[in-house]
Amino acid sequence: MIPIDYHLHTALCKHATGSMQAFVEQAILKGLEEIAFTDHIPLPDGFDAAHRMSLSELDGYVQSIFDLKNRFPEISILLGIEADYYRGFESYLENLLNRYPFDLVIMSVHFIAGWPDGQWVFSYDFPQKTVREIYCEYLQAMKLGIQTGLFDIVGHADLIKSSGQSLLEENEVQVRQTLEAAREAGMAVEINTSGWRKAIHQPYPDLDFLPLLREYDLPITVGSDAHTPQQVGLFFERVDQALKKQHMWPVRFRKREIIFKKL
Ligand SMILES: [Zn+2]
Ligand SMILES: [Zn+2]
Repeated sequence: MIPIDYHLHTALCKHATGSMQAFVEQAILKGLEEIAFTDHIPLPDGFDAAHRMSLSELDGYVQSIFDLKNRFPEISILLGIEADYYRGFESYLENLLNRYPFDLVIMSVHFIAGWPDGQWVFSYDFPQKTVREIYCEYLQAMKLGIQTGLFDIVGHADLIKSSGQSLLEENEVQVRQTLEAAREAGMAVEINTSGWRKAIHQPYPDLDFLPLLREYDLPITVGSDAHTPQQVGLFFERVDQALKKQHMWPVRFRKREIIFKKL
């Protein structure tokens, strides 16, 4: 089975529940070898403060993970963070990410500069734009984020597909350009199983991305995006099957480097 879950949240983000210890205990129960806490990063000037920890809570978050590492030697626990790419936040992110010994940094596009602020991208619906245009702007933002070199893993790559239309079918050329940029940046791509808990009933990115990820020789990670302890490792058996069919397997990270790659 998939041995890692590289996308776990904590109650600090205000929309997750359960103690961090409960997430660890569930991971052990599920037989996972390694997990990474990747809670939502604080953003400047209170941007989207409702969905993330404050800057003053970041030290405590890091310390809690170090404490859990000591208390649960039977599982490997990594220090990660889910960092939003948003145009204009680059130097803020660079400073913050360099201040802590992160094992991995997931890049997520939840907002797009120029779109109305204050909402997550998947709630966007622009009557004046086609799905293709919206996807185009989203992929453009992802590519810019990738090209900053600030992040390690492309998080939930087609999160925006709430309409159910495939990003790959709508914008294949641009998807390919984005993956090429990720390859050049030395990034991995996350297979995020949380979409199976939602109305879309597909992971992010959808499994039709797998042959493309192989084609571009992109390393992958797997994450549940758990916001409750019960969601740790959820639906991993589906990814396990799909990956084995493609002869793909997740890589591991330490101190922001891929430490091995098994294909
Ligand atoms: Zn969240
Ligand atoms: Zn996210």
